[in-house]
Amino acid sequence: MFKSFKRIFRKPTTASGPHTVAADEHGLTPADFSRGSRKVVEVLAQAGYQAYIVGGCIRDLLLGAHPKDFDVATDATPVEVKKLFRRSRIIGRRFRIVHVRMGPEIIEVTTFRAARNGGAHSGQQSSSGMLLRDNTFGSIEEDARRRDFTMNALYYHPNSNTIYDYADGIASIDQGEVRIIGDAGERYREDPVRMLRAIRFASKLGFKVEPATAKPIYTLSHLLEGIPAARLFDESLKLLLGGSAQATFNNLLEFDLFGRLFPRTAKQLAKADPVDRRFIEQALINTDKRIRSDKGVTPAFLLAALLWPVVHRLADHYRQQGESPPYALQRAAGEVLAEQCRYIGIPRRFTLGVREIWDMQLRLPRRAGKRAERLVAVPRFRAGYDFLLLREQAGEIETGLGEWWTRYQEADQGRRQKMVGELNKDGRGGSRNGNRRPRRRRKPT
Ligand code: ATP
Ligand code: MG
Repeated sequence: MFKSFKRIFRKPTTASGPHTVAADEHGLTPADFSRGSRKVVEVLAQAGYQAYIVGGCIRDLLLGAHPKDFDVATDATPVEVKKLFRRSRIIGRRFRIVHVRMGPEIIEVTTFRAARNGGAHSGQQSSSGMLLRDNTFGSIEEDARRRDFTMNALYYHPNSNTIYDYADGIASIDQGEVRIIGDAGERYREDPVRMLRAIRFASKLGFKVEPATAKPIYTLSHLLEGIPAARLFDESLKLLLGGSAQATFNNLLEFDLFGRLFPRTAKQLAKADPVDRRFIEQALINTDKRIRSDKGVTPAFLLAALLWPVVHRLADHYRQQGESPPYALQRAAGEVLAEQCRYIGIPRRFTLGVREIWDMQLRLPRRAGKRAERLVAVPRFRAGYDFLLLREQAGEIETGLGEWWTRYQEADQGRRQKMVGELNKDGRGGSRNGNRRPRRRRKPT
């Protein structure tokens, strides 16, 4: 942990230049930083460039957390960086960076970027003030200013074991507040994704979004419409797979941002059926648990959960119109996914996974004959089964089927046959209506 935090915070900020925080004050040692990031800094320094470990990893270490990756910032251009490291490549267009491979690690090396907004040094902007490209190089001071939040404008040098704090980021960490650098409205117009990032960091770190940083979000959230769906998909995964999905979800709702990513789900949630909220929150709680215990999670499962309140109702609707259950579900799934992809561009391999999990919900009640045996061997069985448990947990359907499948998986061959034999003819072992709870009368909408 960050032992001498208070002492640092009390130290007055110098009139100009960064706040210099020495080893005895920040309590970190070079060994806290990954071997690869230190090596990259060393190689760049030996070649005569400035180089620092930068950003999120310093913030995380100060908070006693394990950084997920280590980034380096330098005054060497991407081409110059690439020349120094054999196992490296330049990636990105809007924002060109170099990925340097160091043993098992990939270090992101970013060239110092120049100040934003106006003048010959700015990145190219659209008429609304959005940055289209941001590849104008600059000094470390300029680089610090164009970063999003104060706590991300921290630079660390392993040789001197010193942190350079350009925007009072350490104070914001100490006070548990996410603060944007500069004017919030202007910074969100340049890049609306920063609104999502503010929520992501606040949720992940358990911070508050300071009022000046929070306020413009309510009026500017519509700017997310201008962001390519592919980028919003990437950002959504970061929001949901960061280990704090539940907190993130609640914050997104509070800031009216959830509806920018999942508009139909947001509309459904606004109808305030407690089952929907419970179902989604439970999915997110389970995901957070899995991530925190280093178990894998599939984005398809989460996406399936986030869209389920919409899709199962639409499927019901088509069924009431006389469609067969599988066709009703297929049609609803196709419609909901196509619309969703206009907002966040879900790659096809994930939409396929989502559909499989949903389809499984129709197949799981049908267990007679050889069906159970076949189903349990399907690769998606586990995800479909987990999804079923979630529906039961949230109270969407009555319990029982999930427990049957739990027992079935644990049983030996003989026992399995017996279990199937005990089912009713329709293979559902119970109510003839399948596993749906009795339909409540809904108000016409
Ligand atoms: P994480 O732990 O999620 O990786 P991070 O702070 O490292 O957090 P990244 O998304 O990896 O976040 O970005 C690296 C750094 O680049 C950030 O610390 C921030 O300074 C800067 N940055 C990233 N995206 C933006 C943006 N949209 N606008 C301004 N600066 C950004
Ligand atoms: Mg990072």
